[in-house]
Order: sequence, then structure tokens, then C-alpha cells
Amino acid sequence: MLMTLGLASTGPAIAQVQVPSQSQNQQAALPRVAVLATGGTIAGTASSETQTTGYTSGVLTADALLKSVPSLGKVAEVSGEQVSNVGSENITNEILLRLAKRVNQLLAQPDIAGVVITHGTDTLEETAYFLNLVVKSDKPVVVTGSMRPSTAISADGPGNILQAVTVAASPDARGRGVMVVLNDRIGSARYTTKTNANTLDTFKSADDGYIGTLIDQVPHFETAVTKLQTTRTPFDVSKLDSLPEVDIVYGHQNDGGYLYDAAVAHGARGIVVAGVGAGSESLLALPSIKKAVDKGVIVVRSSRTGSGYVPEDPAYLGLLGDNLNPQKARILLMLALTITSNPARVQDMFHRF
Ligand code: GLU
Repeated sequence: MLMTLGLASTGPAIAQVQVPSQSQNQQAALPRVAVLATGGTIAGTASSETQTTGYTSGVLTADALLKSVPSLGKVAEVSGEQVSNVGSENITNEILLRLAKRVNQLLAQPDIAGVVITHGTDTLEETAYFLNLVVKSDKPVVVTGSMRPSTAISADGPGNILQAVTVAASPDARGRGVMVVLNDRIGSARYTTKTNANTLDTFKSADDGYIGTLIDQVPHFETAVTKLQTTRTPFDVSKLDSLPEVDIVYGHQNDGGYLYDAAVAHGARGIVVAGVGAGSESLLALPSIKKAVDKGVIVVRSSRTGSGYVPEDPAYLGLLGDNLNPQKARILLMLALTITSNPARVQDMFHRF
């Protein structure tokens, strides 16, 4: 029995290779999981096994990634496709839309049990939350990556791929929204965020905790997320070719406001304030924020602290970003603006999703 691997560098698979899987009898019972590779450290190579910075990300193909985990064939019938092969700092709205459309296409196939996306860790949480809002299926979607390149001693990529495929193949994982799986942990895309630039345990879920853990490669689920996701959101990317421009402006002492002016001049339809503390805005910046709001730009306050809620405060301008960090608030605001520019409706989405 064989695993099939697509080798296209962009878009759907155009070629297939075959790697040994396990016996036909066992394979017949296995769920089918599609792995979509986008690049990142997990596909990166370095010049030595001790080098874990300054390497080249996005080198290995989907084919090579899957071949590095021979035991995948014991948990699922796996097929691979290359959607992009970039460091995740280079994931664009165009790649996000292409990826989301492909995930929805695959999940609509009755023979596909779940989808795994391999991704650079730097912006993994943005792609995961985007998919959490636009995937239209209850089948499991899992995003994974690695902190060490494929050439490192104790590279974490192969183990994370095995865990991600295991979760995507698990009937228990259905209906839980998009999940982030690395380092034995299963987190919700709504909450999981990268908290450390270097270490293996970088992904944390500050306000919600993890939704599960893998022990001996078996997923154990603990909690369910109450924010609405996937089939319970109104977002539809099937006919979208682009997303509205939303910029993030980072608050700090002596914040003069001219970056808000620049965002508006560039055509931003939304601005996320990465405010200090619970979304506070500097008096020096407020005149520029007011000009943006008066022009119809939707401003959303979030916190640069990395966790916690933004409360109502008449001293500041903008909608409340709930407890979404700035980068996730940007994702939701882009999608909200594909439906409405009505501030009350956008605010409602920030409370529900
Ligand atoms: N900057 C690269 C990326 O985001 C490497 C980070 C990683 O994959 O861990 O893809």
C-alpha cells in the first residue's frame, strides 16, 4: 500500500510520488488526512545539527516532510501538497485565501477525514485563527510547525507532524475548531499564541489553557472553546480574491499618532491598536485616531501585553478587541470588513468569535 504525495509548488497537486506505507489490510481501515505544506522552519535546513538560528526556512517539500515520518503510515493514509514554501513572515493574504479555499475543497471530499497544515511558527497563530473563522466543516483541521530546522539534533518537526496527523485523524477532534498542535499540546486557534522566540514550548494558550494533550501519541481532550468557529461563523472566502487592508499600530510611550495617519493615507479600512495595558491609547495619538474614526476607518483596541481583555473606557477611541491579541484581532477585522463596516456589527463579531 502506498501514500500519495503531491509535488506542486503552488496550487493543487500536479504530480504524485509514492512512499511505502504499511500493509493493505491495516491501510484499508485508516482515515485519510491531507497535509498542506506552506514552508517554515519545519521545512528548513541548516549547515550543522547544532544550528537553530540563521538557517534557511522553507526548503524541504511536502514530499520530503512526510517521508521523514515513516510511522505516519500507521495512523493515516496521508497525501501531501505544497501550497507555498516560505518563511511565515512572508505569508500574504493571497496565500491565506488560497490555503483556506483548498482546505475547504479537501474537507468537502467524503473520503478526507481531516487536514494538517505545516507552517512557520512566527505567524502560525494568524493562519490558524483565519482558518478557524473560514473553514466550513466540522472535520479536524490542525496547524503545526517546528522550532528546530529539519537538520537539527532532536528536530521537533517529525514528531509534531506525527502528532498533528494523529489529531486530524481522530474522530474525537471533530467540531473543535482549528487546532494548533506542537510539543504534545493541543491548543485552540482562537487562543494559542507564540510566546518565546526560541524555545520548544513557545506556544501557549494564555486565557483559555490547552484543549488537550497527546500522551503516547493518543490525543486527550480536556476543554471545549465557547467562542464560535468554522461552520458557526458567517465568513465565506469562496468568492474572495483579496482582503481589506487592516494595519496594526503598536502603542508605546511618546506615541505621536503619525503612524495612524500613514495607515489611513495608505488606504487602511481598519486599524488595530496594540494598546498599552488594557488597550490604553496615548493622548498624543488620540487626535490621529479620531481622524481615522471620523473617516470611517474601523479602529479596534487590543492589548500589547499578550493576554487579557480590553474593557470599555470613554477616554479611548475604538471598538473592543475582546481578549484577542493584536495579530488575531487584525485577522478578525479583515474578515468582518468583508461583510460590514457597521461598527456595532463588527463589535458584535469581536464578542462572538
Ligand atoms: N521565520 C520562520 C517562519 O516563520 C521560521 C520560524 C519557524 O518556523 O519556527 O517560517
